[in-house]
Amino acid sequence: MQIQTHSLLSPAPGTQRELVSLHYGQPGQGPKVYIQASLHADELPGMLTAWHLRRQLDALEAAGQIRGEIVLVPMANPIGLAQWLLQGHLGRFELLSGENFNRHYPDQIEAAARAAEPELGPDPARNIAVLRRELKKAVLAQPVDTELQSLRRTLMGLSCDADVVLDLHCDAQAVLHLYCETPAADLCDPLARFLGSRVTLLATDSGDNPFDEACSQVWWKWQRHFGDRFPIPQACLSVTVELRGQQDVEHALAEQDAANIVDYLRWRGALAGEAKPVPPAQGDARPLAGSMPIKSPVGGVLTFLRQPGEEVREGEVLAHVIDPVTARLTELKSPVDGLLFARDNLRFVTAGARVAKVAGLNALRSGKLLGA
Ligand SMILES: [Zn+2]
Repeated sequence: MQIQTHSLLSPAPGTQRELVSLHYGQPGQGPKVYIQASLHADELPGMLTAWHLRRQLDALEAAGQIRGEIVLVPMANPIGLAQWLLQGHLGRFELLSGENFNRHYPDQIEAAARAAEPELGPDPARNIAVLRRELKKAVLAQPVDTELQSLRRTLMGLSCDADVVLDLHCDAQAVLHLYCETPAADLCDPLARFLGSRVTLLATDSGDNPFDEACSQVWWKWQRHFGDRFPIPQACLSVTVELRGQQDVEHALAEQDAANIVDYLRWRGALAGEAKPVPPAQGDARPLAGSMPIKSPVGGVLTFLRQPGEEVREGEVLAHVIDPVTARLTELKSPVDGLLFARDNLRFVTAGARVAKVAGLNALRSGKLLGA
C-alpha cells in the first residue's frame, strides 16, 4: 500500500492542511474502487469502518489478493475535522463559507466531452478510457481559489475515474441506507444486498451536485450528450452509504461493515478468491422524491414513539412535541405508508424543524431533494 499526501490550498500564512489517501493494487489490473470516510467530518461511523477496512485490505494485500486498484481516504475532510465550537463538533458546513462540504462538486462534463469527442468510436471500453482520461485532466486543471475548493478538487481528482465510489456518511439516528442515482440503480442492487441496506433512495440529479452524483452523473449526461453517435455505458457506480446514526461508532458494526465491503469488492472483481453469492435483499429501492420529511409545526420537547427501521402507516403518530409552558401536546404524523429510516438526535425542536424521514413508495416531492 502506498500512502499519498495531498496539500490543500493554504488559507492563511502559517497554516497548511493535507489529505491522505491509501493506495492498494495497481491501475489497470481490475476495477478501480474509491472509498472515502467522513466527508461530513462529524459523521464518524465511516472513519471507524475505514480503519477496519484498512486492516482487512492490509491482510489481503499481504496475501496477494488485491486485483483492482483500491483507493481509501480514511478521513476525507481535514477542514471540518478542525471545526469546533464550545466542545461541539461542526463538520457538515464549512464555517468560513457556510457551504455544505458535500455539495457543489465541479461539473466538467462539457469540457471533457469536447476534448474526448475526436477519439470516441464504436468501442464502449475505449470510450470509457478516453472520457475518464479527459475528465481527470479537466478536474485537475480547474483553478481553485479557496481551501474548500482545493479539497473538492483533490477528492474529485482521486475518484472521478473510478468504477465504484463509496462515500461513507451517517444520519443522526438511522438504519443503514444508501443514496444513488437512478441510472445506476441496477448496478447498486448487489451492493445494497452485500451491505444489508434497508432502503436505497434513488434520484436523477437531486440538486447542488453532492459528491456521489458528481462521480456518477457524468456517464448518463454523456449518454444524453452523444445520443446514438457513440455507445457510453454507465461506467461508475457511486453511492452515498449512510452507516446508521452518529452514535453508532462501534467496533462490531464497523468490522462487519468493512467485511461486507470486502465481500462486495471480491464479488466485483477487485479482490481475488471465490466470491460469496449475492445475499438476499434486506430492503428495496425507493424514489428520493418519496422520502418524506416529518416537520414539527411548533417548538418544544420532542419525544419519539417509533424507532428507525419500523414500517409506519399514513396518519400514524411518530412523535410528540410538548410545550412545557402551556402543556400542549402536538402529534407528528407520517404523511405516507413507508419505512421510518431516520430521525433527528435533538430532543428540543424549533418550529419548522424536520425531525424524521419516512421513505414511501411514491415520488411526491419535486425541486431540490436533499436537505441543507
Ligand atoms: Zn453526511
